[in-house]
Amino acid sequence: MQRDLNGELAARLAALKSEGLYRELREIESAQTARVTMEGRAALNFASNDYLGFANEPALKEAAARALEKFGAGSGASRLVCGSLSPHARLEESLAAFKRTEAALSFSSGYATALGTICALMGKEDVIAIDRLAHASIVDGARLSGARLRVFRHNDPGDLEDILKWADSRGSGAGRRPQILIATESVFSMDGDFAPLKELADLKEKYGAWLMLDEAHGTGLFGPNRRGVAAQEGVSDRIDIQMGTLGKALGAAGGYIAGSRTLIDYLTNKARSFIFSTAPCPAQAAAATAGIDLAQSAVGEERVGQVWRLWEQLQAEAGSLVWKLPAFKTAILPLMVGGEVAATELARRLRERGIFVPAIRYPTVKRGAARLRLTLTAAHRREDVAALTDALKAAGGYVPPVTV
Ligand SMILES: *Cc1c(COP(=O)(O)O)cnc(C)c1O
Repeated sequence: MQRDLNGELAARLAALKSEGLYRELREIESAQTARVTMEGRAALNFASNDYLGFANEPALKEAAARALEKFGAGSGASRLVCGSLSPHARLEESLAAFKRTEAALSFSSGYATALGTICALMGKEDVIAIDRLAHASIVDGARLSGARLRVFRHNDPGDLEDILKWADSRGSGAGRRPQILIATESVFSMDGDFAPLKELADLKEKYGAWLMLDEAHGTGLFGPNRRGVAAQEGVSDRIDIQMGTLGKALGAAGGYIAGSRTLIDYLTNKARSFIFSTAPCPAQAAAATAGIDLAQSAVGEERVGQVWRLWEQLQAEAGSLVWKLPAFKTAILPLMVGGEVAATELARRLRERGIFVPAIRYPTVKRGAARLRLTLTAAHRREDVAALTDALKAAGGYVPPVTV
């Protein structure tokens, strides 16, 4: 006999629990920063993507408050339906100036940005090549577009070139040559390593593909004026579609595409997650604009300096840990554990010691590659990093069970 909805779902949840894959929300009763109150206890937060500590920055809060007063709490409708409020226009001007592109378009989230953009650009005739570790928003956008999806080995231009050759050969028959889109991240969200941008740009030119780069973890930390990794590598002009989020280093929420005026006009007409969704509240757009200004200022420079000082300290102190910490100089430091159950258990032990770090497990990463994803932010202090490594050492007596 068929189980009813709750019976079926309870069985599925029990299976997740037994595999160490169950997820639950933990309430934070304070503002979201380096030191939080979580479920009634003080905790050090090493989980946040608020890399520059902007989420609680007075300049952002004041900008949000002013926009709230002047423009109200809600946006009323999609920007195409009821008119587009000034804070959204100012945000997009700031984004385009920051990224040095002709134009920009903001979305309600980075996830909505990837979905709407990829689906607007690509159809079932086309081919999308993505890095194996690309973010779920890129994977989901590629799937939803109906295009042929090909996955290349992580940061492997040779493997990508094989896909491009194959896609190119498909165009020789009748009909339109399939368009090819290469999509990847500049700093990988769960591994903290960099994509080989110059090689990717060379390949996209060689095969006439389009290149989409998600700078979710690069914007605000790298390059001149902290514009991102593409600017640091001098390849911004070769990236057709620059994507990012306003919710990480920039301290607010939302997502964006920066690129040519034509690209932005096209997405305004075709990106369904932009068209069929109420505009973000004006306070969110105003906070993001303030975050973009601050990231480019001397404050932004000083905050990034603090992140790298803490990075040096953590690398030095982590030398004596049993787990490996990769040496990529980004704000994301995945402590590789392996088994899902072991990672969950280690995260629990740290939580008991007042340290919050999420265990990242399948399906976010592949099975057996579970890790604690540590992030450093400018809101952390030296003693916080020392407390983290002390807690890791104290929690390290746990021997992970053997898993695949
Ligand atoms: C967080 C993230 C997104 C999604 O952005 P949101 O604004 O959080 O929806 C997209 N891509 C990458 C690589 C991310 O890390």
